[in-house]
Amino acid sequence: MITRLRFLGTGGGRFSTIFQSRATGGVYLESGMKIHIDPGPSGLNQMKNMHLDPTKTDVLLISHCHPDHYTEGEIMVEGITQGGKKRRGLLAASKSVLEGINDIGPAISSYHRSLINHRILEPGDFLNLGPVDMEATPSIHSDPTTVGFKFHTKNGVISYVADTAISDEVIEAHRGARVLILPVTRPRSSRIDWHLSTEDTVEFIKRIEPEITFFTHFGLKMLRVPPEIEAYWAQEETGYRVIAAKDGMSVSIGTRITVK
Ligand SMILES: [Zn+2]
Repeated sequence: MITRLRFLGTGGGRFSTIFQSRATGGVYLESGMKIHIDPGPSGLNQMKNMHLDPTKTDVLLISHCHPDHYTEGEIMVEGITQGGKKRRGLLAASKSVLEGINDIGPAISSYHRSLINHRILEPGDFLNLGPVDMEATPSIHSDPTTVGFKFHTKNGVISYVADTAISDEVIEAHRGARVLILPVTRPRSSRIDWHLSTEDTVEFIKRIEPEITFFTHFGLKMLRVPPEIEAYWAQEETGYRVIAAKDGMSVSIGTRITVK
């Protein structure tokens, strides 16, 4: 069996999203189950371009309650449930997305929650998704309930690190990852709170030693560098393969990993 990973968007942060400098539709993982992670703006459009059918998605995961990650969540719920007519699939998300916390969220209306089985994820929670076991991981982000996702697939561990500042706890949670997906909002020398910059990725990669790392979630400053330069620098610094993801990029993960 082959696991496939597709980037429905590689932008992130406020202005990349507002201007759609890159699409912001999240990541689509197929590994016996069809899993859509973080359906921000233009996810539907990207799915159409890549011939992916939203009514075939099995699981929707939303890491936190910022619009570049959740905006199209309700429509994806309508997709999974075939217009609300069929009770199928699962929505799992941070507490902020499903219930709201303080002045954040919820991002999914009670009507849409009533259509689909849903559950709140906290770091350390395990979910069995058929052939994939998913583990929720911690994040240090301005939405304090943010979770990342670590997928144990037949083709190894694929780790989706959610928006986060760098920390030992966050790195350790992704130990064993064969494929590491990092949200690198900022380039070198311009770190901002709650996010990773390229320097942080070097520490992350050296400690996890993944076979391949994808950078995504690019802010405007990062796009101006551009991200390929940053990925190349991180690859040289670490000795591990690092790729700056592009919208529409498709990755096959079998015995080998192939990027298209
Ligand atoms: Zn965020």
